[in-house]
Amino acid sequence: MIIVVFLYFAAGFLLLLFLALLAVSSLIEKRPRAVVLSALLIIIVELAWFGGYFWLDPPFYILLIPLAVLTVFILLFFIPLGESWPLKITAITEKVDERDVVFAREEYRPGTEKYEKYYTLRPENKNIDDRMRRLPELLQPGGRYYDPVGSPQIDAVFGEIEKLTYEVDGEITQEKENVNPEKITRQVKGMVLKQGAVEVGVTELNPMYVYSHVGWGPETWGAPIVNSHRYAVVFALEMDYYNVETAPHLPITGESARQYLVGAKISVALAAYIRSLGYSARAHIAGSNYQIMLPPVAQDAGLGELGRLGYLISPKYGPRLRLGAITTDLPLLTDKPINFGVQDFCEKCLKCAVNCPSGAIPRDGQVNVRGVEKWPLNVEKCLHYWRYIGTDCGLCMKVCPFSHPPTLVHNLIRAGIRRSSFARTVSAWGDDLFYGKKVKYERFIEPEIL
Ligand code: SF4
Ligand code: SF4
Repeated sequence: MIIVVFLYFAAGFLLLLFLALLAVSSLIEKRPRAVVLSALLIIIVELAWFGGYFWLDPPFYILLIPLAVLTVFILLFFIPLGESWPLKITAITEKVDERDVVFAREEYRPGTEKYEKYYTLRPENKNIDDRMRRLPELLQPGGRYYDPVGSPQIDAVFGEIEKLTYEVDGEITQEKENVNPEKITRQVKGMVLKQGAVEVGVTELNPMYVYSHVGWGPETWGAPIVNSHRYAVVFALEMDYYNVETAPHLPITGESARQYLVGAKISVALAAYIRSLGYSARAHIAGSNYQIMLPPVAQDAGLGELGRLGYLISPKYGPRLRLGAITTDLPLLTDKPINFGVQDFCEKCLKCAVNCPSGAIPRDGQVNVRGVEKWPLNVEKCLHYWRYIGTDCGLCMKVCPFSHPPTLVHNLIRAGIRRSSFARTVSAWGDDLFYGKKVKYERFIEPEIL
C-alpha cells in the first residue's frame, strides 16, 4: 500500500515537472496562449491529483486507477507503435529542367530571347507567368510589406550571394592528395560545422536529382547540365526561431537571406578546399546557381524527411532550415536516410495547409510526382503570394509543429513522435490546442491574383 501511495505522489510530481517544463518552454518561445494553458493545467491537474488524495482520502486501490491511466498513456507515447514509413520513392524516370523552376521563370522578361524561347517550349506556363510578372517583384516597391529601408537591405544581401555564383567552381590542384575516406569525411564535416552549419551529411549523388538544363546563373541558359560527381555533402543552417515567428513579415526574409549568404560562403570555401587537395568539387548556392535539387539530396544524406509543406524537416530544427551543398569526387563515407515519422505526422497534422494564405499546400493525400510519393506544392501560387506581399512569407515554416525550438519538453515530445503513431496523433492535436490551429495574419489576399 505504501508503495502505491509513493508511486501516486511520484507520478503527481512527474506531471507537475512536465507541465512546468512546458510552461517554461512556452515562455522562452513567447507563446502566451501556451503559457496560460500550461499554467491553468498545472493548477487543475495538481489540485485534482494531490487535492483528491488529501480531501477524499481514497483507499489505496482507487489510486491505482489514475496511476494505471497515466502509465498506459506514457507507454503508448514512447513505445514503438503503429506504422512509420519513409518517403516512398519508386523509379524516378525524369529529371527536372531548371528552366521550369518558378524562380527562373520569373526572370524571363517579355521581349527577350529567353522569354520567346521558353514560352515556345512551354506555352502552357505563359499565362500564369505573365500574371505573376504583373505583381511587384520580391523586396521591390509595391509589395504589401515593402519597407523602403528594410527591403533594400535584404536585397543587398542577395546581391552579395549573387557575386559568389561566379566562384562555385575553379581550378583543381594537379597533385592529388592521398586521403583516408574516414579521416577526410570527419575533416570536411568538421569544417562545415565550425563555420555555422548545425547539421551535415554525405550521400552518393543520385544523378536523377541533377537538373537537366541550366535555368539560372552565369552559365549558358538552356545548356545541358553535366555533373558526374559521385558524392554530395549537404548541410543545414538553423533559421532563428524569433525571426521565423515574424512570418509573413520582413524579418523572416532577412533571416533567409542571412542564412543563404552563410551557406554560400561555406559551400564556396569547402569546394575550394577540396579542389586544393586535387579533387573536383562544385558549390551549389542560392542566388540562381544550383545544379542539384537540394531537398531530396539532403534527405538522402540523412538530414531529415520531406514534409507536406515541401521543405526538408529535420528531427531537431524541423523546417526552420536553409540548405547548402557541394558535389565532389573526393572519396567520402556516406550517411543513411532517416525516418522519424514525418510522413505519418503530416498526414495527421495539416497545419501548414490550413494556414497557407495562397492555398499552395495540398490538404489531400500524397500523389506520385515523377516517381516520388509526396504532397505536390503549387509553387506558382506560393510565389504569386510572395510577390504580392513583398516577402518570402514563411507562414508554413512558422506554424509547423516541428519548428519549435529544441527545448527539453519538445525533445521529449519528439522522442515519442519518432516511435509511436499514438504520440503523433496526440502531439498534432496538442499543438493545435496549445499554440492554436490558425495563426492571425492580415488575410487581404485577393483571390484573382492566384
Ligand atoms: S511560403 Fe506562404 S504561400 Fe508559400 S507555401 Fe508557405 S505558407 Fe503557403
Ligand atoms: S505543419 Fe504539419 S503537415 Fe505541415 S509540414 Fe509541418 S508537420 Fe507536416
